[in-house]
Amino acid sequence: MTAIGTPFGAMSIRQLQAGLAAKEFSATEVAAASIERIERDDARMHAFLELTADMAADAAAKVDAALAAGSLADAGPLAGVPVGFKDNMNLLNTHTTCASNMLANYLSPYTATCVAYTLHAGALPLGKLNMDEFAFGSSTETSAFGPTLNPWDFERVPGGSSGGSAAAVAAGLVPVALGSDTGGSIRQPASFCGIVGVKPTYGVVSRYGVVAFGSSLDQVGPFARTVEDAALALNAISGFDEHDCTSQAADVDFTANLAEGVRGMRIGVVPAFMEAEGLTDEVRDRVAEAAQKLADLGAELVEIELPNAKAAMSAYYVLGPCEAFSNLARFDSVRYGYCDPGHADLGAQYEASRAKGFGPEARRRIMLGSYLLSAGVYDTYYYPAQQVRTLITQDYERAFQKVDCILTPVSPRTAFKFGEIGDPTQMYLSDMFTISINIAGNGGMSVPVGLGANTNLPVGVQLISPAFKDVNMFRAAAALESVYGPAPVAPQFAGTH
Ligand code: GLN
Repeated sequence: MTAIGTPFGAMSIRQLQAGLAAKEFSATEVAAASIERIERDDARMHAFLELTADMAADAAAKVDAALAAGSLADAGPLAGVPVGFKDNMNLLNTHTTCASNMLANYLSPYTATCVAYTLHAGALPLGKLNMDEFAFGSSTETSAFGPTLNPWDFERVPGGSSGGSAAAVAAGLVPVALGSDTGGSIRQPASFCGIVGVKPTYGVVSRYGVVAFGSSLDQVGPFARTVEDAALALNAISGFDEHDCTSQAADVDFTANLAEGVRGMRIGVVPAFMEAEGLTDEVRDRVAEAAQKLADLGAELVEIELPNAKAAMSAYYVLGPCEAFSNLARFDSVRYGYCDPGHADLGAQYEASRAKGFGPEARRRIMLGSYLLSAGVYDTYYYPAQQVRTLITQDYERAFQKVDCILTPVSPRTAFKFGEIGDPTQMYLSDMFTISINIAGNGGMSVPVGLGANTNLPVGVQLISPAFKDVNMFRAAAALESVYGPAPVAPQFAGTH
């Protein structure tokens, strides 16, 4: 805790670094106090699966040495900033469990590029964060190690699959956390927890060392409570990596346009999305209000159509399971994963290990993918799904000839209660507004716009940018933040330190 009573995890990057530079506190104090606070305040919420106190202390010592030598900047752009990583990201010598019994004992043999870049930027690694098993889900309820609770209301889910990352940031345990998003797994939990969550354009961040779900859809991105912090974090983790042939060169400063305002910006709104079945009135109202605020600030609202977006969910639940089936084949109990003991032949060992190692949702995805890729069935589903993918991508390309950015809902509703959605297909609908962006590959982010009038829970709006023009959505996000303010720490955590 600092002199003014704000816990370090509840500060912005600027505040933290100003305090460090002014020697109000040291990075070593930041690391120790942050770990202590998580041990105490996260006990029930369960955002963290593993703490890395020693690594945080080592990183902090380096930052303090740079400070002592005269310059905080020498320690990197995220110097002294506590961070957490979703548990599908390898960090050498920590467990990378993907919240699955399959990998409960798996120790990272190396560090994922996004994690390495974060550490290289001077951040303090506090630990690994809970998630839906292998990132399959929208509630963190499928974690084999128990769910994470929503910091706004412990009876509700934080969203998923990066629920631990979102909850940790919303509770003010860390200013920044990394998550991954295959169909909505950064944006939906960000909206459920009332914070900023960014899925950059596919290729902006290397996927190397992040356990693959759907390789053509997965993208890593940051959670933060301010747009600037999210942009600073994305600056640190983005860039070319020779280990991921889909990664792109980093020549973008995501903070570049934050102060520009939206005057003259053309922002697309999608009437068909606002009439979608299942969208609650309170979310619709907030999205409409956010559009109006952007117009008040000088943006031009343009109605657009994304006629094929309605097929995105169907295409995703073909392409996603197919890629997951292929990616998860490596967990065979021999090279990787839980090995059920005492089987005389290999086939029986495979079967028993995979049956016991994977939870129900992971098994469902694997079986679905296996079926969809089988001879005969492939032509009926996989091939058309790829054609739909092209149509959706073309929809966005056409729309972005008319607009610079698109505004939509993130999730059709606010955070639901544990156990409230039992039917998996109902759960899948959580991502009805986010999935088409993974299919097309462009950038999308969730920005908090206050609370829903009925549930009094956080609502996020989604800003979508053209491919590799992620700066556009950051620009509009900063304008929204100037109206709604930065995300508050969830009320029941606001007084704790
Ligand atoms: N909820 C979606 C799913 O279950 C998306 C998950 C994700 O983005 N990782 O597949």
